[in-house]
Amino acid sequence: MPEYQTHQHDVLIIGAGGAGLRAAIEASASGLSVGLVCKSLLGKAHTVMAEGGIAAALANVDDRDSWKVHFADTMRGGQYVNNWRMAELHAKEAPDRVRELEAWGAMFDRTQDGRILQRNFGGHRYPRLAHVGDRTGLEMIRTLQDHGIHQGIDVHMECTIVRLLTDGGRVVGAFGYERERGRFKVFRTRAAVLATGGVGRAYKITSNSWEYTGDGHTLAYDVGAELMDMEFVQFHPTGMIWPPSVRGILVTEGVRGEGGVLKNNQGRRFMFDDIPDNYRSQTADNEEEGWRYTQGDKAARRPPELLTRDHVSRCIVREIREGRGSPHGGVFLDISWIKARLPNAAEHIKKKLPSMYHQFKQLADIDITREPMEVGPTTHYIMGGVRVDADTQMSTVPGLFAAGECAAGINGANRLGGNSLSDLLVFGKRAGEHAAKFARDQGAGTIDQRQVDEASKWALAPFDRGATAEGPYQVQYALQDMMQDLVGIVRNQGEMLRALEALAGLKERAQRVGVGGHREYNPGWHAALDLHNLLVVSEAITRSAIERRESRGGHFRDDYPDKHAEFGTFNTIVKKGSDGAMIVARAPIPPMPDELKKVIEEMK
Ligand SMILES: Cc1cc2nc3c(=O)[nH]c(=O)nc-3n(C[C@H](O)[C@H](O)[C@H](O)COP(=O)(O)OP(=O)(O)OC[C@H]3O[C@@H](n4cnc5c(N)ncnc54)[C@H](O)[C@@H]3O)c2cc1C
Repeated sequence: MPEYQTHQHDVLIIGAGGAGLRAAIEASASGLSVGLVCKSLLGKAHTVMAEGGIAAALANVDDRDSWKVHFADTMRGGQYVNNWRMAELHAKEAPDRVRELEAWGAMFDRTQDGRILQRNFGGHRYPRLAHVGDRTGLEMIRTLQDHGIHQGIDVHMECTIVRLLTDGGRVVGAFGYERERGRFKVFRTRAAVLATGGVGRAYKITSNSWEYTGDGHTLAYDVGAELMDMEFVQFHPTGMIWPPSVRGILVTEGVRGEGGVLKNNQGRRFMFDDIPDNYRSQTADNEEEGWRYTQGDKAARRPPELLTRDHVSRCIVREIREGRGSPHGGVFLDISWIKARLPNAAEHIKKKLPSMYHQFKQLADIDITREPMEVGPTTHYIMGGVRVDADTQMSTVPGLFAAGECAAGINGANRLGGNSLSDLLVFGKRAGEHAAKFARDQGAGTIDQRQVDEASKWALAPFDRGATAEGPYQVQYALQDMMQDLVGIVRNQGEMLRALEALAGLKERAQRVGVGGHREYNPGWHAALDLHNLLVVSEAITRSAIERRESRGGHFRDDYPDKHAEFGTFNTIVKKGSDGAMIVARAPIPPMPDELKKVIEEMK
C-alpha cells in the first residue's frame, strides 16, 4: 500500500475561505491545536472573489435598520423555508462580527463621519452592506489570514481531502493528497469542520472558481450526514456573457446598487413589468423614485432591479426567450446612464466599482462609464448543503461540523446578496467554538487502517485504468452541459427524469475514467477524483428538485409555476441509504416562536 504522512490536530478545518479561517481562529483561541487544510494557496479561497460586501444591520447609513429588519428581509428572501433560528442568530450577531473584523484591521469604506459605509443590495430594505469598493472579499480574507496566522494555526496548503475517516460513526480523521507531489496525508482529529464552499462547477455557466466541486457536501454525505435543500441553487442575474471565454464571470449586484439599470433590446426597463406582490409595497413604481433610492433618499423605495436574485434572473430569461435580448443572448446592464444625473459620473463609477471597470475594459473592451454591459444569469451559489444544528453547526454525524456555503439553513430558498460573507463570520465562529468544545470532551478515536487503504486504492484507480481509458474532462463537460440544460433556471419533471438517467450513465463512465502520467502535478488525476463529488451533488440537486413540486426562490418549475403552502412546511433532505442509493425525505420545519413571528408581521 502507498505510504502517507500523518498529522494530528485537536480540530481539523477543511477549507480556508472566510468560514474556515473564522472557525480556525475561534478554535485555536481556545488553546487547542488546529489544522487548516485547503486545496489552493492560503488566501486564494473563493471568498477572495466576493465583491459587493458584508450584510450587517450596523445602521450607519440608515438608522431605521436593526437586526429585526435584517431577520425579516432574510426570511422573506428565503421564502420562509429558512432555518429561522440561524436567520435570527445571523441578524443579531453579524454587526459584532463586522466590528470585530474592523478591530482586526479591515479597512472598510467610510461615511463622511468616519463610520463603516454601507451600500444598497437586492432584497435588503436599507443600505446594509459594509464594503471595500467592490473588493470586499479580498479585504476579509487578508484580515482573517493576518489575524489567524498569529494564532499558531498549522496550515496545509494545496492539499485536497477526499475522504473522512470514522470510528463508530464519529468523525476522527481525514484522508487527502498533496496537489503538487501527489503524496497522501492522513489527518487524525477529534473534531472536523467542513468549510469547503459550493458546487458551481456542476454547471456549465458559473461565476465559481475551479475549487467549487461540492467536496464538503460529498465528504459529509459519504459518511452518512444529511444534506438539506439541495434543490435551491442560486442563478445570479448578472454574469458576463461575451466574449465566450469569460461567460459566467460575475457582475456584482453593486452595479445595480449604485444606480445601474436593466434594459432589453427595445430600451425598456423591463423590471418594472413584473413586481411580485410580497415586494410591491417596498418597490419604486417609477424610475425617478428608484434613482432617488440609490442616492440615499430615505423616502424613496428600491428600484425593481434590486428585487431578489431569483426573480431578476427569471425576468431576464423571459426577455431573452421572448426575443428582446441583447446581441449575444443576454440583456443590457447600464450604469453609464448616470452621467445624466451626476457631473463626475465616470470618476464616481471607477471609484465605486473599480473591479467592474477593469473587468469589462480588459476582458470585453467595454468602458462601463460610457456604454452598457451585456449580462445574463450565471450559476452562483447553493443555498443547500450539510444539515447542521443552528447553534453549534454540528451535522447529523457526531464530530462533524459545517459552516459557510457548504452548510444549509440560513438562506432558505434564496440567499440575499451580502448574507454569505456575514454567514461565514457568524457561523464560522460558532462552528470553531463548538468543534473545540466537542474536541475537549472526546477521546482521540482510532483510525481504521482499512478505511485508509480503501481510500488510497480508490484514489489511485484512475492510474490503473491508464491514459487509454476515457479521460475525466469529457465526463465533466458532459455533466456540466446536462445540468445546465436539464436542471437549470427553469425545470420540469420530464427533463429532470432525463437528468437522472443521464446521471446514471455518467456515474458508470466516471468509474471507468483513466489518466496517464504520475502523481506529481497531474490536474487530470485531480479532475478524475472530483467527478465523484460533482456527481453526488448533481444527483442531490436533481432528486430534491423533483421532490419539490412547486416553485420557490431559486427553484423554478414551469410544470408547477406557483408556490404552494404545503411545500412551505418542510425542508428536503437527502441521505445515503444502507444500499448506497440516495434517499430523499422531508423534514418538517419546526414552528417559529411567537416573538419572531411578530417581527415578521411588524416588518411586512
Ligand atoms: C464572484 C463572486 C462574488 C461574490 N460576492 C459576494 C458578496 O459581495 N457578498 C457575499 O456575501 N457573498 C458573495 N459571494 C458569495 C461568497 O463569496 C461565497 O459564498 C463565500 O465566499 C463562500 O465562503 P466559504 O468560506 O464557505 O468557502 P470558500 O471561500 O470557497 O473557501 C472554500 C475553501 O475550501 C477549500 N476546499 C474545497 N474543497 C476542499 C477539499 N476537498 N479539501 C481541502 N480543501 C478544500 C478551498 O481550497 C477553499 O480554501 C460571491 C461569490 C462570487 C463567486
